[in-house]
Amino acid sequence: MLRESKSRFFANGRVYSLLTEDDYPVEVTDTFLPFYTKDAIGKKQNTLQNYNLGSRKERWMVGVSCMSGCPVGCKFCATGQLKKWRKLSAEEIVEQVMFILERNPEYSPTECKEFKINYTRMGEPFLNIEEVKKAISMIDEKFPNVHHYISTIGVSGSDFSWIKENVTLQISLHSFDEANRDWLIPFKKKMSITELGKIRTHSNLKTTLNMTMVSESDFDIEKLKKHFDRDAFFIKLSPINPNATSDDNHISEGVISAKNLV
Ligand code: SF4
Repeated sequence: MLRESKSRFFANGRVYSLLTEDDYPVEVTDTFLPFYTKDAIGKKQNTLQNYNLGSRKERWMVGVSCMSGCPVGCKFCATGQLKKWRKLSAEEIVEQVMFILERNPEYSPTECKEFKINYTRMGEPFLNIEEVKKAISMIDEKFPNVHHYISTIGVSGSDFSWIKENVTLQISLHSFDEANRDWLIPFKKKMSITELGKIRTHSNLKTTLNMTMVSESDFDIEKLKKHFDRDAFFIKLSPINPNATSDDNHISEGVISAKNLV
């Protein structure tokens, strides 16, 4: 049973710190946005047009953790502040979703325009993939309109054949410069840029190629065109969310000055 230890409000939602029965911390987010922000492809960005932040009846997103802590150690990720890590069970992942729903009894996931589970908080999903897949099946049974969005660094040997329909993949590339990518994501068993570009899924949506831009030299339009077919990939450039780890590594500024709401 997960229990709440603390939480923090922000403009369009709330982030919770939970504790597992054996006292491992887990982070889960509850956010919402106006429905028009979904159309990032047509508008080429998804920034807010005004101060109206919409509600959970429009786009409702629950960001879950697949692990407490994370062994990957990305240079801009606050998870690196935790000294130990462990994989979460499928039940502990589903429980995070139910925790958020219980705190919002006035909203129903089946009535909002988009209900999305983002596997984007603590942990690399593909290092705990059997439990993540079990959690997806359990959530699908409860909420037939749900969409799952799984963010990975691209762990070597991962199987993507099961990614289809309402499950979408996001690859966190961050840099086309292999040496800088190795520094930003210091995990040895990761796929090369060439291997990442060959990923194909049967999802209803294109695979997202995410780049949290630290420096302009991380971007290379020629390599982007060479490796990532525009018919298979949607390119997303994200700002850094400053935190103690990114401060320690002197990369809190990044290239994009706009800030995420979360
Ligand atoms: S894989 Fe994800 S959770 Fe793990 S350190 Fe990197 S950004 Fe953080």
